[in-house]
Amino acid sequence: MTCNSTMESVHDYQLQQNLLITFLFLAIFTGWRTFYERIKRSLSQVTVVIIGGGPVGLLSAFLTLKSGRATNIVVFEERGRKSVLNAQYQLTFDCQSVEFLKAAGIDFDNIEGCRHDNCFTTKVGVFLEYILDYLTVSGVNVSIRFHKKFDKESCKELDEIQGRLLVIACDGRNGQASRLLGLDEFSEQHSCNAYGAIAAIERAEARDVPTPEKRVHNLTFDLSAYGAYHSENDCSPGFSLKVFGNSKHRFISLAISKCESSVVKALRTILDRSMMRNIFMKCFNLYKMGYEQSLSESYALNHMKFSPRLFEIKLSQRCETVAYFHDCDTFVLAEGEAALSFNFHTGLDINPAIRGLMSLSKFVEMITLAETEHSISNALLFKMKHNEFVCKDLIRNGLRDYMFS
Ligand SMILES: Cc1cc2nc3c(=O)[nH]c(=O)nc-3n(C[C@H](O)[C@H](O)[C@H](O)COP(=O)(O)OP(=O)(O)OC[C@H]3O[C@@H](n4cnc5c(N)ncnc54)[C@H](O)[C@@H]3O)c2cc1C
Repeated sequence: MTCNSTMESVHDYQLQQNLLITFLFLAIFTGWRTFYERIKRSLSQVTVVIIGGGPVGLLSAFLTLKSGRATNIVVFEERGRKSVLNAQYQLTFDCQSVEFLKAAGIDFDNIEGCRHDNCFTTKVGVFLEYILDYLTVSGVNVSIRFHKKFDKESCKELDEIQGRLLVIACDGRNGQASRLLGLDEFSEQHSCNAYGAIAAIERAEARDVPTPEKRVHNLTFDLSAYGAYHSENDCSPGFSLKVFGNSKHRFISLAISKCESSVVKALRTILDRSMMRNIFMKCFNLYKMGYEQSLSESYALNHMKFSPRLFEIKLSQRCETVAYFHDCDTFVLAEGEAALSFNFHTGLDINPAIRGLMSLSKFVEMITLAETEHSISNALLFKMKHNEFVCKDLIRNGLRDYMFS
């Protein structure tokens, strides 16, 4: 009896020992695996190729660099550095874009420009130079290839890159890179339920100093001299006007919500260039900055370009903006005006592109870590949904924020 109970307790003790060893072994294995996964995740990286060295291309390079997930970043830009930095227009970042870019690490206090109504306006060249300097001193392998056009031959170069690749097409509204890379060419046109017209004046004698925009609302025009009579029943809200651009290159935009008032009908149908020229000239002279010279009729005739009549404002959206090609383990993405653009100039044109870039860092993180088909699909779905959201938001609120409020 005693012998049996001793044998049993020895057996129990051995069982407990075995269980403890198994448990310890499992704990060490799980801990080691978690540690290994964590190290592997922190080391996962991707090569990034960007086509276009405009504001969106260089910002994409900046954001991917900041994500810490890029082994190499290569930017193709068909123009030379001087030509890129000498572009003659200005960028206006709205409040949301400023906040996003600040959080990403852009120091607006160190960029020459002007602040107004929570917006920041600067010369495009000044902004691009700031980003180029940051990319150059970053220490990571960033190569900006000026005078290098991306074409069919460059596509072959991409095939030689080892490992996972992300190619971002930021080659502007007329760019061909997305198509060359295999994204569907088709674009959808969304009506913004508004009509607009634009004028541009070049003042060769002026310096291009960043200048804040000016907005005016509820304008009406007397077009009786052109045979368009104002009807008493017209209760349309009137036109919104915006004067923007730098002091050398001035732009005037007029927009009105879709309506069938007699003035809108006249401006949509009568093709009389002198009527439009007069409207833009008078608007400019009334609402220009105090220090600007007024436009004379002869100056407007020789130096002002303008839409000859009101057109429908539309947002053009590339239907396919993100894809994955399994055979070469390559993700392709379109950003900026290569993905989404208005056929109208609001003076805040860079901001739709910045909205799109707000999901770039997370997308880069997701594709770097994605190993299964499921996680690759999740990354694609995430970016597609965000792009869709940006587009819908712009159709709903874009013109209101940029012109009508
Ligand atoms: C005259 C003008 C006035 C503007 N005024 C304002 C304003 O007041 N406020 C504002 O916010 N925005 C303004 N904008 C708009 C703003 O600049 C755009 O929103 C912005 O430029 C879009 O940036 P992006 O990088 O998508 O395209 P882009 O600026 O067009 O850049 C595309 C780049 O890709 C390069 N490229 C094209 N094809 C290739 C290729 N195959 N290989 C290599 N490189 C290629 C081009 O050379 C270019 O540098 C203005 C634009 C213009 C033209």
